Amino acid sequence: MRYLDENDVRRLLRIEDLITAMRQVLAEFSSGKWKQPLRGVLGQHGGFFGVMPASGSAMGIKMVTFYPNNAGTKLPTHMAVIALFDPETGEPLALMDGRYITEMRTAAVSAVATDVLAAKDAKVLTLLGAGVQAHAHLEVLPHVRQFEEMRVWNHHPEKAQAFAEKHGLNAMELEEAVRDADVVVTATSAREPILKGEWLKPGAHVNAVGASRPDWRELDDDAMRNVVVVDSYEGARNEAGDVILSGATPFAELGEILNGTKRVAPGTTTIFKSLGMAVEDVATAKLVYDAALQR
Ligand code: NDP
Repeated sequence: MRYLDENDVRRLLRIEDLITAMRQVLAEFSSGKWKQPLRGVLGQHGGFFGVMPASGSAMGIKMVTFYPNNAGTKLPTHMAVIALFDPETGEPLALMDGRYITEMRTAAVSAVATDVLAAKDAKVLTLLGAGVQAHAHLEVLPHVRQFEEMRVWNHHPEKAQAFAEKHGLNAMELEEAVRDADVVVTATSAREPILKGEWLKPGAHVNAVGASRPDWRELDDDAMRNVVVVDSYEGARNEAGDVILSGATPFAELGEILNGTKRVAPGTTTIFKSLGMAVEDVATAKLVYDAALQR
């Protein structure tokens, strides 16, 4: 069995290949080609331990921790390990770091959503949050749109300023950052809404990445009155505070848009509520494993 640490995974994972793999696995998931139970989450010691198995053209499990109190320490808030198995024989194939996979597959899934839901000529990207996911989205989203202006807001403005200076963005006040933006990413550990629907430009697209607990939110009711696309109906019903507490009815799974079952008209204001799925982790782990075999 191979063991691949974070440096190995970083070396082997290419963003273009990852976006392609996410597009494919999301479409397969919504066509019923994968088995994936709702993730198990154990909460304790101020953190969460999630167990995420999936089986389809690949088979595996991600074990992930989310410890919000790690913020400001030398440890990340999200860490993970992925075990990959051969779905034909059940043979264990690899054990690999899942932290970087979680980081990048989340942004790649947002890139897929942005590609099919955002305006083709989207020019302004706004990142709400300045942590790991904000950085990953900054790296990955320009693969699907040519942004001319990139903005960042963070609840601690000095962190937004440092992020902006490091990566060449504009640090802004919250409302100012959202108004006129074509694509907005909410990637914070907020538990109460930070994004107001009334600020959104008609036709804007939002990738709502944070608030992965049933009682946490990043978007207000107004924002959730737009066309809501989710990664999985089951996940959204059980885990997404933004969906559950606003009473929004998701219009589609992203995979249904990709496989042509559902269609969103151009110019529609759209919210992609992302929770993250095991199929994304397992498909990414398979991509990394296959790349390792070729080296
Ligand atoms: P980080 O800990 O790296 O960053 C968190 C960000 O949120 C920081 O900018 C932090 O600012 C900010 N923040 C913290 N508390 C608040 C608050 N109360 N209000 C507004 N902003 C706040 O986390 P990640 O970037 O890895 O994750 C961001 C979010 O995305 C989390 O909710 C996480 O659970 C979720 N996530 C979702 C995934 C998915 O598949 N959908 C996958 C991975 C993560 P500061 O540092 O200044 O406090």
